[in-house]
Amino acid sequence: MGNVVLNLEMNKIMEMRNFYGKNLLDKNIPGSVFAAKTSACMITAYKSGKVLFQGNDSEKEAGRWGSASASSKKPSSSHSKSVAKGDLPTGIGQMSAIGSDEVGTGDFFGPITVVAAYVKKENIPLLKELGVRDSKDLNDEKIIAIAKVIKDIIPFSLMTLKNEKYNQVQQSGMSQGKMKAILHNQAILNVLDKISPEKPEAILIDQFVQASTYFQHLKSQKAIAKENVYFSTKAEGIHLAVAAASILARYAFIQYIDKLSEAAGFKIPKGAGAQVDVAAAKLIMSKGRDILPSFVKLHFANTDKATALVNKKRK
Ligand code: MG
Repeated sequence: MGNVVLNLEMNKIMEMRNFYGKNLLDKNIPGSVFAAKTSACMITAYKSGKVLFQGNDSEKEAGRWGSASASSKKPSSSHSKSVAKGDLPTGIGQMSAIGSDEVGTGDFFGPITVVAAYVKKENIPLLKELGVRDSKDLNDEKIIAIAKVIKDIIPFSLMTLKNEKYNQVQQSGMSQGKMKAILHNQAILNVLDKISPEKPEAILIDQFVQASTYFQHLKSQKAIAKENVYFSTKAEGIHLAVAAASILARYAFIQYIDKLSEAAGFKIPKGAGAQVDVAAAKLIMSKGRDILPSFVKLHFANTDKATALVNKKRK
């Protein structure tokens, strides 16, 4: 799918809104002036003056309003400079990069979701415009809204390690660190495959172990992404590809929790605090203990706490 971005004056954008009158969508996209859909193009105009054209007719539609060549590559002065830390290459924040991050490792309920996403340097200002930033600053509602837009703009791969499988591999003795390494590597390989023959200038993993341990974990893997791979903690703040990956991973996790909630018949809480003990106890009482492996990470201390709650209630 082709994407074209134009930078236009607000009066031009208002003119466009009139032009696309019949095609306007009743869609509330953060920061947008309007969104419209023709038979083969989605058009979204933002308050900043950026207008995004997506779809087979993107070039044709954009051609009505201006030329993309100068506008899409103009570096945005408002974009934060890259913070090169440790072994990271200088300017990594402005490179075309794959970023990867995971969600769910500390949550008793639900899977681990890992996403690797590719953000080309010319798309960095656009993603920023769409609200992509550290997902810790965003609530679920915002995460969902942003994820729904960016999932059609950037190539990404989502790996979901469901609870049943998670418990199996955990019981076989695999550490969570190794599971994560395998999932990150696989997601990155998938994205490399998707964008081939294009290659990213950098691959940035939100760091969860030392690089040497990461590669140690991957020893038995058939293929390992190694070239230009960098690690950093708080990588969401270093490259938007990691922030985008984090948003998409969180979106997938939220959707999965919603599915679990539906199956449970009540709202499943996140995290690993006392509220999940209560919820797990409720689940055991209503559906029986056998249901637990498909809902939770069994080795968490919460399993025993929930069991104790059930025993107390049954006394
Ligand atoms: Mg992380």
